[in-house]
Amino acid sequence: MGGTFDPIHYGHLVTAEEALTQFRLDHVVFVPNRLSPLKDPADVTDPEHRYLMTFLATVANPRFGVSRVEIDRPGASYTIDTMRDLAARHPGATLFYITGADAILQILRGEWDQSAELLALCQFIAATRPGFALSEETLRRTGGGRAPLENVHLMTIPAMAISSTDIRARVRAGRPITYLVPEAVEAYIAKHGLYRRVPAPEAAGG
Ligand code: ATP
Ligand code: MG
Repeated sequence: MGGTFDPIHYGHLVTAEEALTQFRLDHVVFVPNRLSPLKDPADVTDPEHRYLMTFLATVANPRFGVSRVEIDRPGASYTIDTMRDLAARHPGATLFYITGADAILQILRGEWDQSAELLALCQFIAATRPGFALSEETLRRTGGGRAPLENVHLMTIPAMAISSTDIRARVRAGRPITYLVPEAVEAYIAKHGLYRRVPAPEAAGG
């Protein structure tokens, strides 16, 4: 499961746990990116902070792990490179890329680097997410015949209307994030004073 995890929250964790059980996976590897090609680096927290929060949130689950493969690869993080790397490291394994509805729709629209190659390279688990319509029909319509859909599997999960964007806004506004993120992540955010600063463009406006 790839992401920026800025910070990791219960939406990510519920999605991963549901994927484990619904698809009988052996293991979920969380892969925090160094630099998302789709996000402004000025708005994103240091990769080491995001890596450590992801570690803290997953460390007690024997079936969860965190990979540094993208954090340690210089430059922008492309999922296609990561999946090729994982495929080479685990020959014979069936690889599933776990995404939320927003991410799979981006991939099907061809917005990720080598989207078509990526869709051919591994299986996809596409989780429902509040705010994004996801059905077999949406997948077909969004894929528009450009992408092979036989590798994309829909997964319905309990609706978790949680996003990292909302959590960052809450911290900035002094509102609670308890029960939205694991306790250790909440403590880490407080200890390091993360998300207190207004992002650069708004700061420039005063
Ligand atoms: P941001 O608001 O900063 O974009 P985010 O909450 O979307 O953060 P990401 O790190 O961007 O988190 O997402 C990583 C992956 O997790 C994506 O595939 C995304 O669709 C999925 N995801 C995130 N939150 C949820 C959720 N509440 N339910 C289902 N999937 C989710
Ligand atoms: Mg996101």
